Amino acid sequence: MNSNHINTYPQTCNLKAMKSKILLSLMALLGLFIFNPVQAQGNLTPEKIKAALDEAYTKFKDVKDGKNADYIKELANVDPNIFGIALVTTDGTVYTKGDVSSMVSIQSVSKAFVAAQVIEQLGHQAMQDKIGVDATGLKFNSIVAIEEHRGKEINPLVNPGAIAATSLVAGKDSAAIWKSILDFQGKFAGRTLALNMPVYISEAGDNLRNQAIAHLLKAYGRMYFDPVQATDIYTKQCAINVSAKDLAVMGSTLANGGVNPVTKEKVVSPETVMYTLPIMATAGLYDDSGIWYYNSGLPAKSGVGGGIVAVCPGKFGIGVVSPPLDEAGNSVKAQLVIKYVVEKLGVNPFLIQPK
Ligand code: GLN
Repeated sequence: MNSNHINTYPQTCNLKAMKSKILLSLMALLGLFIFNPVQAQGNLTPEKIKAALDEAYTKFKDVKDGKNADYIKELANVDPNIFGIALVTTDGTVYTKGDVSSMVSIQSVSKAFVAAQVIEQLGHQAMQDKIGVDATGLKFNSIVAIEEHRGKEINPLVNPGAIAATSLVAGKDSAAIWKSILDFQGKFAGRTLALNMPVYISEAGDNLRNQAIAHLLKAYGRMYFDPVQATDIYTKQCAINVSAKDLAVMGSTLANGGVNPVTKEKVVSPETVMYTLPIMATAGLYDDSGIWYYNSGLPAKSGVGGGIVAVCPGKFGIGVVSPPLDEAGNSVKAQLVIKYVVEKLGVNPFLIQPK
């Protein structure tokens, strides 16, 4: 507070009014200091974040390992050179590097957000009882886990649990459920999302395995809507188009306790986030979930379209898109980038500095 500022008050001010104005100004200044967005990110500064993304991009842009998914034919045609990184902090600041506007199909990343939708609508106990929240440790489209536990002890981030989760979303018919899922994913992303029709058609014509999974769950009483229609909605949900930036905003909404930090809209409750992130931590990268969590400490979700979203609770969401995948079906470059950024920024939640 400088004297010039005080001198601008009208001469008619009495002393009491002036005192309270000074007090208010001081409180505002204090508030600004305490709630300064940069401070709120811990020791993360915009410079550090920008540098980490730049370095990660340069370091990994020429990595040629991995291969596009081709069991969904249309995915083989996606440009393998798309490479975009976006990070959105819980104060709503968006940082980007590379191609963050090219779209890929969201695929399994959608599962984390449908899981959140179901937890929000039915409660966390229903998720645990009706689907399960145990990592299977098996391939994402394995039927072995269903057989072994008679449809129990799976989770909503592998295909059987994901199709079951889709079957639990509220809606009077198939069209209403699909609309509800598309809208919900859009709220997480902060914009209206759209279906990638060629990817949907390509997978829908060839998803016998997922249909079998849905029917097997039905046989065990663990499918909550028509299995053919639930599989179809699930297939559509996987074909929603997203960019790296969309993924980052979606992740930042989870990082921010369910409020989209860009649009400020409340999408889900903090409790829903609290129950969604542990499933992402234990099962987000399929049969490589353990090795991922061990090396990054962050809940994340991958998709065979080449996207990965990771959540640094209370700090940021990061989304990376690069289509070539490793054996487990996870984007090679996206994993490298996120691990690098986490390490560089020192934000692994398990990195605890002794007092
Ligand atoms: N739609 C894909 C499938 O069901 C999603 C798989 C994935 O991203 N891992 O096979």
